Amino acid sequence: MYLPQEIIRKKRDGEELTADEINFFIQGVANNTVSEGQIAAFAMTIFFNEMTMPERIALTCAMRDSGMVIDWSHKNFGGPIVDKHSTGGVGDVTSLMLGPMVAACGGFVPMISGRGLGHTGGTLDKLESIPGYNITPTNEVFGDVTKEAGVAIIGQTGDLAPADKRVYATRDITATVDNISLITASILSKKLAAGLESLVMDVKVGSGAFMPTYEASEELAKSIVAVANGAGTKTTAILTDMNQVLASSAGNAVEVREAVRFLTGEYRNPRLLEVTLASCAEMLVLGKLADNTEDARAKLMEVLDNGKAAECFGKMVAGLGGPADFVENYDNYLDKAEIIKPVFADQNGIVSAMDTRAIGMAVVAMGGGRRVATDKIDYAVGFDGFIRLGEEASSDKPLAIIHARSEEQWQEAADALKKAITIGGEYTPTPEVYRQIRAEDI
Ligand code: URA
Repeated sequence: MYLPQEIIRKKRDGEELTADEINFFIQGVANNTVSEGQIAAFAMTIFFNEMTMPERIALTCAMRDSGMVIDWSHKNFGGPIVDKHSTGGVGDVTSLMLGPMVAACGGFVPMISGRGLGHTGGTLDKLESIPGYNITPTNEVFGDVTKEAGVAIIGQTGDLAPADKRVYATRDITATVDNISLITASILSKKLAAGLESLVMDVKVGSGAFMPTYEASEELAKSIVAVANGAGTKTTAILTDMNQVLASSAGNAVEVREAVRFLTGEYRNPRLLEVTLASCAEMLVLGKLADNTEDARAKLMEVLDNGKAAECFGKMVAGLGGPADFVENYDNYLDKAEIIKPVFADQNGIVSAMDTRAIGMAVVAMGGGRRVATDKIDYAVGFDGFIRLGEEASSDKPLAIIHARSEEQWQEAADALKKAITIGGEYTPTPEVYRQIRAEDI
């Protein structure tokens, strides 16, 4: 028998907590015998003292086990259960192509995704721009669609990692979100409750990333790989670039449109293809669906080019309540803004930097994201046709095409975009993928 305040005191005094103590505390969080004040103090002691890897593993497992942990064995999927999670970005529509691509190669991807957070877009918000798409099916339907389409992307249910929900809500109001131990346990507890065999973690780096520096992104990636593998889920992290909008578009319906065009081969933004392939290839390797990265990339290009990945996407959409002909007729279903026109830079020159966070906030300002949790999203607004770093802005080459509801909104978005994009000055190219961190690299 422990006392929450004694556990907090021990951590406060710099001692290492045992797995039993952490379990006791987190059970108390889940059953409300630990108060909000105690959660705040616990989070603050961790903020100042960090946690050892064994403590992080214990915290992750305790939060994972605080609610339902999905067991897919009764579904007999007949292939590896693999997933990807990203720390979030702008124009990061990867999941919509990645799930179907891995499914078409024989993997099963039961993906539980989130909504937009701050300046970053959310996969769920994007999918909800598809009429009829149900992000909260029963677990039975979730499993059935995963089995039939190879992929189902849905929202988090209240039963998954409920302790994290309480801890996160307290961290959010006590300045304790930005701590690597707590972020690691928070992200992984939710992901690992989804019954995965392996996971690829895409940790973003750059002006639109959640972590402020390359070093901080790398430290988070290493922590996630060590803890997830320690908790029994084979996990690799990939550090990818978020110094510019990843896709050619940023918004909701505009990104879904880009995802379908990517899958059908109508248009594939090269950066988006590279980042998507990097995560997908590692998922195939971890799931033993490919011998190595080169083999995996060849298999993935094949299912993109022969239409199998697009077919899996179509099956997922239909299985979750969307139109059966969505892939063929997506433009008939996705909402469109009234004003769609380009914005040009005030001067010609090379694009040397993008404040990607500011561009994400411009989407939010148009109504494409939320300022508070209760805000309603306007799916139609956003940007497409983004210029890339290193390209020359000119009277022939706009910065982007703005999708707005009114002239006034268009003008505000245009002003925000011009401010966020630097023309001229020194341009240093950044790679799409910085590095990969596997369990053996730790
Ligand atoms: N996302 C999460 O789910 N948890 C964190 O702590 C930070 C980002």
